[in-house]
Amino acid sequence: MKYQRPRGTNDLTPDRSPLWRRLRHVYEEVVTQFGYAEVDPPIFEATELFARAVGEDTDVVSKEMYSFTDRKGRSLSLRPEGTAGVVRMVIENGLLGGGGILRLAYWGPMFRYDRPQAGRYRQFHQFGVEALGEGGPALDAELIELLVATLRAAGLGELRVDLGSVGDRCCRPAYVERLREALTGMDDRLCPTCRERRVTNPLRVFDCKETGCHEALKHAPRMLDHLCDDCRAHLERVEALLADQAIPFRRDRDMVRGLDYYTRTVFEVHDPGLGAQSALGGGGRYDHLVEDCGGPPTPAVGFSAGIERLLGVVEQEGALAASERRSYGAYLSLMTPAAEPHAARIAARLRRAIPVEVDFTGRSLKAQLKTANQRGVRFAIILGPDEIDARSATLKDLDSGVQKTLPESDLLELIQAWLASEPPAPRAAPGR
Ligand code: AMP
Repeated sequence: MKYQRPRGTNDLTPDRSPLWRRLRHVYEEVVTQFGYAEVDPPIFEATELFARAVGEDTDVVSKEMYSFTDRKGRSLSLRPEGTAGVVRMVIENGLLGGGGILRLAYWGPMFRYDRPQAGRYRQFHQFGVEALGEGGPALDAELIELLVATLRAAGLGELRVDLGSVGDRCCRPAYVERLREALTGMDDRLCPTCRERRVTNPLRVFDCKETGCHEALKHAPRMLDHLCDDCRAHLERVEALLADQAIPFRRDRDMVRGLDYYTRTVFEVHDPGLGAQSALGGGGRYDHLVEDCGGPPTPAVGFSAGIERLLGVVEQEGALAASERRSYGAYLSLMTPAAEPHAARIAARLRRAIPVEVDFTGRSLKAQLKTANQRGVRFAIILGPDEIDARSATLKDLDSGVQKTLPESDLLELIQAWLASEPPAPRAAPGR
């Protein structure tokens, strides 16, 4: 019997984990710089929460949720996105009402039962932020700036910001009526699902991937042309603020965001080199969601970005890779099992300053040094019978080839001196 990972999932293997951790670090740095505190809601919640928050007729809820009944008969679902859980957490823990803006960030796995393809998985990871308690356009611009700053810090050069507006409770109902009318005349071109959506939630027709439905929409009215004055002014202010920050953007009249909760600003950031699944992240304003979920009226805005997609781009562009070399670490080579206590003592001391990996395999020194080189560490520390007797160690700088036998208690000092001396000394002493 050969086990395989479930379809649409990924293993994070050791070759990719350094880059993954670098991305996590970039995320932590940038959200901290912008004043966002990290939160971590559970990965499953009551199914009802997602149905309510994300929308019953969205694809994400109606087709893509991993839902199950627990042993007490409750319906729970693995989270398909992060906002609903954060909003639930904020209400349940009474985090609102302190005045000011509540700025929160998260990072973790999401689950959607969709057809897997490049850049689309059933378990994937997102980082995201939510900013609650302020309805003005400046906060929308801040979030877009934060997303762009994170992607740039991850080494991405070319980015495209698409910006749109889905209107608000003042202008959207009238627009939806117009759209419904327009779609009524095209009923024969719509797929059966969209014929239903035309009645229940015509905006969702924009989500449909069927060519007939795409064609039908070509001449349908667009929300951007039917915004009320407030929504238009809001959008124009966001644009002006982005222009001020020299963030290039374009208006997208066809932007589809697959979740129901958005109001006014919606946005996506794309990597133009990525092909079909080019969106790295997206989000928007959701001014009624907190209230709809049982909290006080609270305007808010958020986004999420896909970490696997980001990792893919970073790998292609090689932007972060070099800096992850553990160039300051050490590889401890034991020439005899008798060196084990000796090695444990040295490793414990050195680990306060540098990463240390210990080789207990008893292989030849040549084989052990080969592994040390593969690991990309700067130092090998060799412990043979002579070193055990003398309580010493042989330190080898794998960059320069220089090596020196010295008392074990002086090791750290010499390592630090060699690390501080740049560039490394030329390859001199012969190998052992
Ligand atoms: P969404 O929550 O659908 O707005 O998605 C936000 C971002 O998450 C997207 O721009 C993608 O980068 C990423 N994403 C969404 N769905 C998936 C998926 N099934 N697999 C991998 N990444 C995804």
